[in-house]
Amino acid sequence: DRTAVTVIGLGNMGVALAEAFLKGGHPTTVWNRSANKADGLVAKGAALAATFADAVAASPVVIICLSTYEVMHEQLSPLTDELSGRVLVNLTSGTPDQARNTAIWAAEREVEYLDGAIMAVPQLIGLPETLIFYGGSKTLFEAHAPLLRVFGGNAAYLGDDHGAPLLYDLALLTMLYGSVYGYLHAHAFLSTANISPTAFLPFATNWVNHVIAPSITNPDSARALEERNYATDVSNLNTNKLGLEHIIRASKELDIPAEWLKPLHAIAAQQVAEGYGNDAFERVFEALRKS
Ligand code: NDP
Repeated sequence: DRTAVTVIGLGNMGVALAEAFLKGGHPTTVWNRSANKADGLVAKGAALAATFADAVAASPVVIICLSTYEVMHEQLSPLTDELSGRVLVNLTSGTPDQARNTAIWAAEREVEYLDGAIMAVPQLIGLPETLIFYGGSKTLFEAHAPLLRVFGGNAAYLGDDHGAPLLYDLALLTMLYGSVYGYLHAHAFLSTANISPTAFLPFATNWVNHVIAPSITNPDSARALEERNYATDVSNLNTNKLGLEHIIRASKELDIPAEWLKPLHAIAAQQVAEGYGNDAFERVFEALRKS
């Protein structure tokens, strides 16, 4: 497969995508608002399009990786004939509804559209284990899967909902930010006694591997959420509510912020007040999920 391709958006990620195509031997056209970012790619054989419209017109398959959907639509909206019949694969981050609305926009213009979400940093583009989510027509995905695997061997097709890749992406990202915030809060605590992150590292590693990871990547917990059955003999909401209170109280004593935990504590306290104190901490999900 030596399909000609266009990559639009040469930020950190777009450059890595274009490089993967060049490595794979694909005739590659590129475009970026700041044209100088194409210099390294042109030296490796890419063609730099003079305008956005030229870039779209240059190839049957167009990959877009810009900062936001707003930026992408600002560029796309003046285009007319150039678009029809193209395959557009959008790897720009945003919300599921932005992806769904873009799919409607594409269908109105006879553009074949796949939405995707890259679950990796640019350095991981092109590796067999790199995970990228895709959503849209199955036929369209399957026809282009070999091409898309140039970016990452683990190209996961999620079905015909164009919003699914970004929904999965946001699910994983909120897990990430929750964990990283907790990690930074931990070091705020430790810094009050001058304990260095390096000194703490062995304990953090043990905790993540043997307590956190097994508790959130665990079929029993997944089933509890699915069945909304929160029975436990391990650690109940009562105990965890008190745990949150200790963190909040200690944060105050040590003069570090704990605002981020207060909404979580409020949910746990409400559920304990409603008589669910013996349920598992997963019961908090009842207050978070869409009813
Ligand atoms: P960068 O900030 O490096 O690049 C942003 C890109 O958007 C550049 O091409 C920039 O052009 C372009 N851009 C921004 N504003 C405008 C505008 N008003 N008009 C035209 N072009 C504009 O971001 P990344 O490459 O890191 O990210 C791109 C997308 O990939 C994002 O949606 C990001 O969430 C996603 N992504 C990134 C990952 C990463 O690790 N980097 C991981 C997974 C997803 P210019 O060069 O001219 O400024």
